[in-house]
Amino acid sequence: MIAVLKPSATQEQIESLTKWLESRGLSVHISKGDFCTILGLIGDTSQIDTELLGSLEMVDSVKRITEPFKNANRKFHPDDSIIDINGLKIGGAHFQVIAGPCSVESPEQILAIAQSVKASGATILRGGAFKPRTSPYAFQGMRGDGIELLLEAKRQTGMPIVTEIMNASHLPVFEHVDIIQVGARNMQNFELLKELGMTRKPILLKRGLANTLEELLMSAEYIIAGGNRNIILCERGIRTFETYTRNTLDLSAVPMLKELSHLPVIVDPSHASGIARLVQPMSMAAVAAGAHGLMIEVHNDPSKALCDGAQSLTPEQFAEVSEKVRKIREVIK
Ligand code: PEP
Ligand code: MN
Repeated sequence: MIAVLKPSATQEQIESLTKWLESRGLSVHISKGDFCTILGLIGDTSQIDTELLGSLEMVDSVKRITEPFKNANRKFHPDDSIIDINGLKIGGAHFQVIAGPCSVESPEQILAIAQSVKASGATILRGGAFKPRTSPYAFQGMRGDGIELLLEAKRQTGMPIVTEIMNASHLPVFEHVDIIQVGARNMQNFELLKELGMTRKPILLKRGLANTLEELLMSAEYIIAGGNRNIILCERGIRTFETYTRNTLDLSAVPMLKELSHLPVIVDPSHASGIARLVQPMSMAAVAAGAHGLMIEVHNDPSKALCDGAQSLTPEQFAEVSEKVRKIREVIK
């Protein structure tokens, strides 16, 4: 980190600031120019409040040279992280397809979808039990009963399951869930992230609706800081001025996150577009961009889905996407 001081900074002010920075465990390299003095801060600057430093009377500006995320940073962990989901791997050369309904609705629904997506190449089953809905009057999910149904589908198909958590007090019912999802709306629920950091469960961390990649990585950092390194990042589209699609899929996030971090990165083309017919092209593009996996919403009867029917694929459409994705993977190998 670099602090550029104002030309008016006195020797006394420079000395007192240097002492304060040194007391925070940093070494300070002072470079005096004709017009201003620059302090180079060496060491772990992650705990320095850049806004506070920048607001000091003698400081003109502050610039971070290294990113504020350390544990999630590829610089300190050059190899790809490979996350183990009960023997199934994601990250590095390992690719997985997560598929299933937006919400678990009934035993018949989740089982039928699980069997069909498994037959056409999905390796992990998704299904929302606790649903974050904009309206309190909309279907809120089957909650604990939904998780029971997912576990039953897991027993019958052998597929690991992923489902969203919204409140840390629900953690006990997630005991046998293979991957815990943190949805877009909770990406910066820091208390929840801290609790998940204390578990050793794989966490699927989705990008917030209007969050930067640095904020996403700082949220991953919260989980790792608690000791849990099993994180999969998910780009799921962000809010822009565009209204034809539900969100705007930021595909550049995939190579950028892979450059910045060692964590696996997957793409959710369903929530990113909100339109079933866009899921196939966006899935293919995500794979071509280097995603380590996809998460796709599939429903056996999308027109009757209790949530997100418009973006849900039929099992037949999913089979087609799965085949196209397989071909793209062959080409880019
Ligand atoms: C979901 O995956 O079910 C979901 C609600 O997605 P997001 O948090 O990305 O909106
Ligand atoms: Mn959904």
